[in-house]
Amino acid sequence: MKKHWIVDAHCDSIGDYCSGKRDLKTDTDSGHWDLNKAKRGGIGLQFMAAYIESEYKPHLATWRGLQLLDSGHHFIEENKDTVFLVKNRSDIDKLGNQSLGIILSVEGGEILGESLFMLDIIYRLGVRSLGLTWNERNAIGDGVGETSSKSGLSDFGKKVIARMNLMGMLIDVSHLNEPGFWDVLKISDKPIVASHSCAKALCSHPRNLSDDQLRALADNKGVVGINFCPDFLNSNVQASIDDVAKHICHIVEVAGVDTIGFGSDFDGIPSTPKGLENAEMFTQLLDKLRDYGFNQTEISKICHGNFLRVLSNVLE
Ligand SMILES: [Zn+2]
Repeated sequence: MKKHWIVDAHCDSIGDYCSGKRDLKTDTDSGHWDLNKAKRGGIGLQFMAAYIESEYKPHLATWRGLQLLDSGHHFIEENKDTVFLVKNRSDIDKLGNQSLGIILSVEGGEILGESLFMLDIIYRLGVRSLGLTWNERNAIGDGVGETSSKSGLSDFGKKVIARMNLMGMLIDVSHLNEPGFWDVLKISDKPIVASHSCAKALCSHPRNLSDDQLRALADNKGVVGINFCPDFLNSNVQASIDDVAKHICHIVEVAGVDTIGFGSDFDGIPSTPKGLENAEMFTQLLDKLRDYGFNQTEISKICHGNFLRVLSNVLE
């Protein structure tokens, strides 16, 4: 694989696989992400999220989460010649070669219900990253969609953070509201990630992070993965690949080059920026970063180095 291979910290493609819409193996024009596109785009590690849709919450959230994780395992098993599940620190050494590493993540702490033991269950199912909330409130905390909420993590949420630190599971704060974000940083003794968010200073969307949050992530030695959702990049015009580069430049300026990576949100976003239509376009984004003056060392950190640093620190 090329020197500048990619870690993409978020895609929602398991949903299409689970519904039978796509097998993620066949080269088709539909969808943003599949194995061929990932290969052509130079992706070496893909976080695949079990995104629990709102209609399953709260009562069927665990069922739906497990169904999506089951699909994730079927997908990995079906493609075991070319992909492998990343579970431990030792698996990190295998990345960047021919096989594509997969990290199973869950987007929505609703999968836990209000039971800490569910964390252990999903860990045993290979999950190594948990998005604490989606946009709504759950037993852990409040998502950014709870616009009138000023509350941070619940007592249960605080126990979840401590347990995740202990187990070696990545804490993902994308979608979490700001008071919750600060609580997590107070409690966590490990680096955290915002797997798919952008910079609020450039686009005032509730899903984006303020400069203070970005600086705090840097202090925590965490990483934010730039989201390719046009609404998060530029609220005025159709977003383009240049907007992605501009958000990266801003985050580097505010929080340093060790704090930024990619979290495309492919197959989870309703449209894509011009020039970044699917996973194979990562190659164009790297060219763009060169145009914006990033050197080889910086590009290597943005591509994969920063996320690998966090994973090496967090995973057992
Ligand atoms: Zn999301």
